[in-house]
Amino acid sequence: MRNFSGLLENEGRSFSNWGLSRTTTPAVYAEPISYADVQAVVGNPDRFPTPVNPVGSLASVTATIVNDGGTMLCMRKLDDIISLETDVKGRRIVRVQAGCRLKKLNLWLQAREMELPFQAEIGEATVGSVAVGDTKESSLDGPGYFSAHVVALTYVDESGQLRTISDHADGAAFHEFKCSFGLSGVVVECQLEVRAATLCRSDTSIAGFASADDLAAGLLRAREQCDALLAIVFLNNLAAFLDQRFRAGPGSMTPAASQPACEEFRLAKRLAIQHGFEGVEVPQPTGLIYSRADFVNEYWRPSPTERRLDFQYYEHDISRLREVVVETFNFAKSFQERTGYAPNGWATYFVHRPGNGRKPYGLYSGEAGISFSFDPFCSNPAEPRWQRFSKEYNDLAIKRLGGRVSPIQTQWLRPGDVSIPAKLARPRFTTPYYKQFLG
Ligand SMILES: Cc1cc2nc3c(=O)[nH]c(=O)nc-3n(C[C@H](O)[C@H](O)[C@H](O)COP(=O)(O)OP(=O)(O)OC[C@H]3O[C@@H](n4cnc5c(N)ncnc54)[C@H](O)[C@@H]3O)c2cc1C
Repeated sequence: MRNFSGLLENEGRSFSNWGLSRTTTPAVYAEPISYADVQAVVGNPDRFPTPVNPVGSLASVTATIVNDGGTMLCMRKLDDIISLETDVKGRRIVRVQAGCRLKKLNLWLQAREMELPFQAEIGEATVGSVAVGDTKESSLDGPGYFSAHVVALTYVDESGQLRTISDHADGAAFHEFKCSFGLSGVVVECQLEVRAATLCRSDTSIAGFASADDLAAGLLRAREQCDALLAIVFLNNLAAFLDQRFRAGPGSMTPAASQPACEEFRLAKRLAIQHGFEGVEVPQPTGLIYSRADFVNEYWRPSPTERRLDFQYYEHDISRLREVVVETFNFAKSFQERTGYAPNGWATYFVHRPGNGRKPYGLYSGEAGISFSFDPFCSNPAEPRWQRFSKEYNDLAIKRLGGRVSPIQTQWLRPGDVSIPAKLARPRFTTPYYKQFLG
């Protein structure tokens, strides 16, 4: 039996996610400070009741963190960035512990003139969560989801053993592990492929459209004009904020010539995201050249009375963009007429799917191609009409429009809406929330 040296609480405290929309009361809360601590927790079901659910920053919106009566294993103190190396395949990699936040990692790499191709706005998310979970962002090059850049990882399996798997040594089994949401084991360390840092140029604008059809065509046109597009669509007003991104050559630091406009834009965008785009204005700079690492943000933990982002995630193939936008517009208008409520907007990311079995299950699985997300968001997760909207929209987006969804980023899912292969799930790690999705 191993000793456990980290922080342990078993006095009935409850824990909530970032948006305060999900709360759980585990029997034991544990914060390991070494890999041996993680092994001690997993290997001792008497002291650390089953299921063991690893968490990072609790920034997920769904019930993925809910584990009443089980063990919440918070990885946030295992956050060292260990080294930049060249792996056996000759790739430049960074070796980092699972509890490291993405902002910390981005700044560390930026100081060494390196970068991850995935640079979403969320700086709080931890490496371990996004290595085996779902993410999205409109990347300039390469797939726009984090786990695509993970080439090896070390985890603690259900018997408490430390294991390392990689794309070159384990092939399909490795890619399957990255679709496991922590059900196959607790990730303690990752190796991520990195590249020389690059700069980005953004032209931003707000566009108005005559119809939903027109809006869909406008999004496709805006995407074709640039190297990557992020759009915030104000669907009920037939308008969109467009961030058209262009490659701007090598470089790791935002040039002085882009300041202070760049910092003003970043702070306004960060506040808009924090507040779910309620009561905030975002400037529309053009020709801004910057390091995307600077736009990875940290968000303060909101109070229950504060405006705060909440969202739903849906992935579709780009060939269905027109249908998705038009059908969603019709649905949202009819919902607004019935209830007086409309979401604040829809975040639209474009993600390259690599194909070749590199993502065997869930989001971005299937053949190579381009996906887009059409994600409604709001500024109050507790608003009953938002919750009702999300539940009804699940039926349209999943069943009629064929959208793929995520157990950590799409709320109110029912059995059948998403399927996680049962072979990926070990009983020691499987919470009731995840059990309902095993197929
Ligand atoms: C304000 C805000 C903005 C956001 N913006 C974006 C965005 O732009 N793009 C995007 O993709 N997402 C975004 N998100 C969602 C967020 O990135 C994901 O939900 C992410 O997974 C959260 O990471 P976390 O460390 O907080 O995970 P947690 O919520 O703590 O954990 C979620 C799940 O991850 C798994 N897990 C965690 N750690 C481990 C581990 N060490 N080993 C195995 N499994 C583990 C478990 O299943 C756990 O239940 C945003 C969220 C917020 C609140």
